[in-house]
Amino acid sequence: MGDNHVSTPLSSKERGEGVRLLDGKAMALQIKDEIANEVRSLTDAGHRAPHLAAVIVGEDGASQTYVANKEKSSHEVGFTSSVYRMAESTSERQLLETIEFLNNDPDIDGFIVQLPLPKHIDEQKVINAISPDKDVDGFTPVNVGRMVLGEECFVPATPMGICTLLKRFGIETAGKHCVVLGRSNIVGTPVANLLSRKGFDCTVTLCHSRTSNLKELTLQADIVVVAIGKPEFLTADMVKPGAVVIDVGIHRVADASKKNGYRVIGDVKHDEVDAKCSWVTPVPGGVGPLTIVSLLQNTLQAYHRQTRN
Ligand code: NAP
Repeated sequence: MGDNHVSTPLSSKERGEGVRLLDGKAMALQIKDEIANEVRSLTDAGHRAPHLAAVIVGEDGASQTYVANKEKSSHEVGFTSSVYRMAESTSERQLLETIEFLNNDPDIDGFIVQLPLPKHIDEQKVINAISPDKDVDGFTPVNVGRMVLGEECFVPATPMGICTLLKRFGIETAGKHCVVLGRSNIVGTPVANLLSRKGFDCTVTLCHSRTSNLKELTLQADIVVVAIGKPEFLTADMVKPGAVVIDVGIHRVADASKKNGYRVIGDVKHDEVDAKCSWVTPVPGGVGPLTIVSLLQNTLQAYHRQTRN
């Protein structure tokens, strides 16, 4: 059966109806335009612009890039942005004092603390110190609790970006079986929660490293969200024809043919999986751009709450 399966070309049904890209890059540009227009109306009316701050501790290269991208996007939509760069040797107490300062600064609508933090700092203690009203990453226990209860809250940026992609591309979700791979607090768990709620109405299966029958489950999935941090983990033999595949993974791999010496790949083996999907997010240019945009949307929401403008 195996040989036969490999040598027989896929029928059009097996390939899906023809894959379409969930183009996060284009969608992010469109949403940024919408935010920029709103900010322009606010400032034209004499109000101050929304203000997003970021705190970064240490010199981690990836974190520096993420914060620089957030700063750039903030400027693009007309936000005020500030970055608090702190040395690797910063003590937990010093960081908590900075958070207290940001919590109390009326000119800052929202802020993020870029993770990971140096090992000598208790990450959860730091997150817990952020005012829930300024927690635009949606990581504090109060916002997580509100999200689970379906109350107004700041939803973590990556799950929110995934929801935006599904909604704006008009992907049918009600009654669909969605299999989420990965149960992290920042991606898998919140996305599973959001997609199971009224509005999306998926039947959700949440998988993790102890799930014993993973392939059996993914083969049943109408929608697969892959957020496990393993390069090209999801292969074509794990995907049902016509499935929607959302690839959250981001990995840099060396590539001498590229000017910068690397290319970015995801948790999905796109060269074989894409042909079987109805919709798929590319990497790069899928979930990533929507993550930053969601942070901007949350900041605008924080601004409206804070200023009542
Ligand atoms: P994480 O905290 O490392 O969590 C990984 C999850 O995957 C864990 O729940 C783990 O299970 C599960 N897992 C690991 N191996 C597995 C396997 N073989 N089968 C099933 N489940 C398995 O990861 P994360 O922070 O959610 O990030 C996941 C990926 O998304 C990374 O590549 C990250 O860089 C990327 N990411 C991208 C964005 C974006 O904007 N596009 C944002 C955030 C993260 P256990 O709980 O049992 O250990």
